[in-house]
Amino acid sequence: MHYIVFDLEWNQSKTGLEKETKEIPFEIIEIGAVKLDEEFHLEDKFQRFIKPQIYRELHEVTRNLIHINMEELESGRAFPLVMKEFLDWCGEDYIFCTWGPIDLTELQRNMKFYYMEPLADGPIKFYDVQKLFSIGYEDKKTRRALEHAVDFLQIEKDIPFHRAFSDAYYTAKVLAKIEAPVLRNYSFDVFVAPKSKKEEIRIAFDNYMKHITREFNDKQELFADREIMNVKCYICRKNIKRKIRWFTLNSKHYYSVGYCDVHGYVKAKIRIKKSENNKIYGVKTLKFISEDEMKVLKEREGKIKH
Ligand SMILES: [Zn+2]
Repeated sequence: MHYIVFDLEWNQSKTGLEKETKEIPFEIIEIGAVKLDEEFHLEDKFQRFIKPQIYRELHEVTRNLIHINMEELESGRAFPLVMKEFLDWCGEDYIFCTWGPIDLTELQRNMKFYYMEPLADGPIKFYDVQKLFSIGYEDKKTRRALEHAVDFLQIEKDIPFHRAFSDAYYTAKVLAKIEAPVLRNYSFDVFVAPKSKKEEIRIAFDNYMKHITREFNDKQELFADREIMNVKCYICRKNIKRKIRWFTLNSKHYYSVGYCDVHGYVKAKIRIKKSENNKIYGVKTLKFISEDEMKVLKEREGKIKH
């Protein structure tokens, strides 16, 4: 198995000059990647420019950030050709790793725009190294810039930042410093949401359980699914007594609390997300909480009308 650590640079429509193409708001102009073996040793490198087809002017954000000019990009090849080359380079058995959750989604959006075969039929398991860094070295919630992590871990800065290759290179160096137990915290990219109940993802992490539901036409349909709306103790694998019924403050995040006689309070949360084809799906998490945390939720629930 290989770790493919990659980073993308993209361009977007220049305000007032070019119209945004809705299917591809961010056009990828560079792919940089490193391939690591199972011991996190660098095995190979990949760097290609991509010749822009949609946005012919460099947006100032892109230009200022990555110091690239159109002439350099014109020397590249079109996205589908570079992407095919990249996938061949990745090989058969690998897991993608990126800094933050966005790159893998944008990669798939660009692939879809060019009618390329999807990377997968459903969510893709990957490593969000930015998240792993937070879990391993900080508070699990804060998301830092790559350079912060590099400084924190005292990684030697031997090449400049903010180019696809260098950012992939430094992300790989950070990944190599993540302790093995932290690596249990996979992420899932949901560019392609599960289509059936069978494809739904249920996975227990160290202190919570995650369930990515299939697509539904609307929330009402999702709320009608008994399994999704049940609150259970995922250790006992049993539905449990409800202490706080489902409530929401913003119509996007829904909360409920149950009580297991053996394991205590379980907070259930459903985040409603929009899928790529304008349907919705839910990301449900179940987490053990203290009595105090339960009381805070109870108070919040008490303030709203059902
Ligand atoms: Zn239990």
